[in-house]
Amino acid sequence: MSNIKYLLLRRTTQIGLLFLYFAANAYGWHILEGTFGASKLFGFIPLADPYTTLQVLATGFVLGADVLLGALIIILFYMIVGGRAFCSWVCPINMVTDLANWLRRKLNLDKEEVNYRFLKRNARYWLMVLGLIVSAVVGVSAFEVLSPITIMQRGLVCGFGAGISVVIAIFLFDLFGVKNGWCGHLCPLGASYSLIGKVSLIRVKHDHEACTNCMECKVVCPENQVLHMINKESISVTDGECTNCGRCIDVCGDDALGFGIRSFVNKKD
Ligand code: SF4
Ligand code: SF4
Repeated sequence: MSNIKYLLLRRTTQIGLLFLYFAANAYGWHILEGTFGASKLFGFIPLADPYTTLQVLATGFVLGADVLLGALIIILFYMIVGGRAFCSWVCPINMVTDLANWLRRKLNLDKEEVNYRFLKRNARYWLMVLGLIVSAVVGVSAFEVLSPITIMQRGLVCGFGAGISVVIAIFLFDLFGVKNGWCGHLCPLGASYSLIGKVSLIRVKHDHEACTNCMECKVVCPENQVLHMINKESISVTDGECTNCGRCIDVCGDDALGFGIRSFVNKKD
């Protein structure tokens, strides 16, 4: 039977982190200050988003050692918990795109999906590279200027302005346009975390013996191409695009999926 354990844990984490940023602003708390781009944990541990850091470096700006250390800390952290764990456990846009995806299923809109054959899932990697090139050419962190993640975080912490229209546009695009359109096809930040996910330690493991091939996991997975082993073999999900959201585990009534540690020795893991 399906449950919502990981959904509840993810929402608690996402809202809890947003509250800590809000509390830094509103009450002067020093637990988590800044933005997802660059923060300070407990007032002294630097944290920096690696893609944001790369964009700033591409502009030619010389960054301090603390920012570089912050990016390294984040890379190492997500090399353990799963690169795109950032997407499903931290990023506030995930709540918007999850809602659009859930509504698509409830309204049966998947059947009406506009067939954007030209929009491939690897478009996000090209946009990631483009973001760096544009940053280098114009001397400004290109994605940061338009980033819906930053807009959403600022909006939830300090109040929304016109930027809310970007968030609404993503919601409508995912609901009526392309399924998982933004996070699964276009977001360059998600793409950068996918690269970390390719070598990350905590992975979803599939037990072929326990699986009854109901395919419920593939219905709810926002990146269902990563579940290519279902109905075939007992291996881990090693593709970097997996967000470690745990939806597939929540929905699996056969205990055929669960989190585990990836083995770099045994090829089957
Ligand atoms: S793909 Fe981008 S917007 Fe979507 S959850 Fe990941 S970082 Fe956030
Ligand atoms: S394989 Fe599972 S954990 Fe990974 S993205 Fe799909 S539903 Fe989420």
